[in-house]
Amino acid sequence: MLMQAKVGLVIGVANKRSIAWAIAQRVAEQGATLVLSYQNERLGEKVIELAKTLDPQPVLLQLDVNDDEQISAVFEQIRDKFGRLDFLVHSVAFAPRQELEGNYINTSREGYRIALDVSAYSLTALARAAQPLMTDGGAILTLSYLGAERVIPNYNVMGVAKAALEASVRYLANDLGQYGIRVNALSAGPVKTLAASGISGFSRMLEHHRNKAPLRKNTELSEIADAALFLLSSLSRGITGQTIYVDGGYSIVGM
Ligand code: NAD
Repeated sequence: MLMQAKVGLVIGVANKRSIAWAIAQRVAEQGATLVLSYQNERLGEKVIELAKTLDPQPVLLQLDVNDDEQISAVFEQIRDKFGRLDFLVHSVAFAPRQELEGNYINTSREGYRIALDVSAYSLTALARAAQPLMTDGGAILTLSYLGAERVIPNYNVMGVAKAALEASVRYLANDLGQYGIRVNALSAGPVKTLAASGISGFSRMLEHHRNKAPLRKNTELSEIADAALFLLSSLSRGITGQTIYVDGGYSIVGM
């Protein structure tokens, strides 16, 4: 089993459609012991129900990535319980709904700040908190989207946040490589999730993707989970600082 005896923190499970949940299930199947965090009490109820289906039972902790005290508390609890951490999955993004429609040029200062803080800066804060616990090396994984590099209608400030996130992956990979910690991103094709439903015209994105991607289909959660397993396991031990596409090839097409 690829993740036997590994301890990992998975951030970003909101419900059964969450990319983080697909990843959590896959790494648990491969022997990982998990800490699952949930953003707030409301989402916590769902996550607690889902967590019951995993074996071994994950540790559940509340974590709002905007809150530095909660970040410290989560890693302290992981230190107390396990003494170390082997991997971290960051599957978190947010922008106010009004920023995910219309033209990018209308992005408000506050909307920009929130999107970049929650969706990009949080990876840096979490990587810094995780590093002392990754005593035997580690793997950090985040989720990105093509909107980081190309203009996607309505994706707007989230594209700018993902560009910052992908650049952060490279800088963090360089800082943490000396400790045997790898940092990578998966750039996934569109999948219908709670976060995705905040993007205006998302069904059209799905349809366009199905028609134009070389594999002529939408990206499936299981495909993202398998790629995540690769990047979190020793199979990818020579890879760091990369953004790898799981998008049926959509990103290679020009016309
Ligand atoms: P999702 O809604 O299931 O997950 C988003 C998660 O972010 C939720 O669990 C939410 O609680 C969490 N979150 C938001 N603000 C937070 C905060 N302040 N503190 C803690 N958690 C917070 O949707 P998803 O599509 O699974 O999104 C996961 C990641 O995948 C995101 O980074 C998203 O941008 C990325 N992604 C999604 C798609 C897609 O089409 N769904 C494609 C590429 C990348």
